[in-house]
Amino acid sequence: MPTRILVTGGAGFIGSHYVKALLAPGSQAQVTVLDRLTYAGNPANLDSVRDHPGFRFVTGDVCDPRTVDAVVAEADEVVHLAAETHVDRSITGGQEFVRTNVLGTQVLLDAAVRHGVRRFVHVSTDEVYGTLAHGSWPEDHPLRPSSPYSASKASGDLLALGYHTTHGLDVRVTRCCNNYGPRQYPEKIIPLFVTRLLSGRTVPLYGSGDHRREWLHVEDHVTALERVRTDGRAGEIYNVGSGTELSNTELTGLLLEHCGAGWDRVERVPDRPGHDRRYAVDTTKITRELGWAPRHRLTTALAETVAWYRAHPHWWPRADAHAPLHRSPAA
Ligand code: NAD
Repeated sequence: MPTRILVTGGAGFIGSHYVKALLAPGSQAQVTVLDRLTYAGNPANLDSVRDHPGFRFVTGDVCDPRTVDAVVAEADEVVHLAAETHVDRSITGGQEFVRTNVLGTQVLLDAAVRHGVRRFVHVSTDEVYGTLAHGSWPEDHPLRPSSPYSASKASGDLLALGYHTTHGLDVRVTRCCNNYGPRQYPEKIIPLFVTRLLSGRTVPLYGSGDHRREWLHVEDHVTALERVRTDGRAGEIYNVGSGTELSNTELTGLLLEHCGAGWDRVERVPDRPGHDRRYAVDTTKITRELGWAPRHRLTTALAETVAWYRAHPHWWPRADAHAPLHRSPAA
């Protein structure tokens, strides 16, 4: 019997790469995507699997108990990626973040318990840990989220673990660092900067530019999610990271180079309120226990990512529809 996997948020950036991997040639999976198609969800992201016999798309909200009940009833496993994901939007309006990232997660978890789902992978983020000056966080580090986004993700993350403890649901939580790659909505720093630079515009760099982030190619996140889904343990948390850390200034320098632009195209803008200085995850657990390691190297994969945006201008969403937010690169 093929495994029936429900993927929430599958029309988004990471979700669409994950669904493509699940339906790779030879796969026995049957995949249902549940996605509300917010501004960040794009049905075209799933074009390559649309005609696959094991693929089904349901437009719907993870907060809607009836829709969720119907799709979870037909799933053996759930991989939950649907979320509001842009930190700056959470600063100007936190309600959608609490609604989707907390309430939506609880609605899904309830349905998973009701229908005896075998596995529930909850896709969380490294941002739940807050900021740290040196070293890297292990999975048992206390959560100290700084933004409404990371606080809502931490709430969903803890709810998921609570359902494991209380209901015995097989929950596995992942906490991954910043991702990059094709099909990321151009409000996050890499696609925002690349699409603006390639169209001759300036890019906004926050404050001092010395905020540091760890960067992982989206396909490496996908392989980590698969290792956790297939071989992870119930009730466990797995950090996912690359060890490749860059300041925003260093990242901007690389993007300028790849786009053939100079520093005159960079506008310094006031810092984001509550902006975490640095994130870094300790990946010893996923490496030792599940044998996972990233495959992509930033030097080549970033160049390939820029080349993808250059080759797909028709994919760039209507960036100017959200003009005020575009002064605000993401985490
Ligand atoms: P994204 O913003 O590209 O996509 C989110 C998807 O969720 C969209 O398709 C959207 O339509 C859908 N969605 C939003 N609200 C919904 C709702 N109420 N019901 C159903 N669908 C809804 O996000 P992403 O970057 O692909 O992130 C996916 C997950 O991975 C998120 O949970 C995020 O917190 C987590 N994550 C992201 C990163 C990163 O760097 N992008 C890093 C670590 C973890």
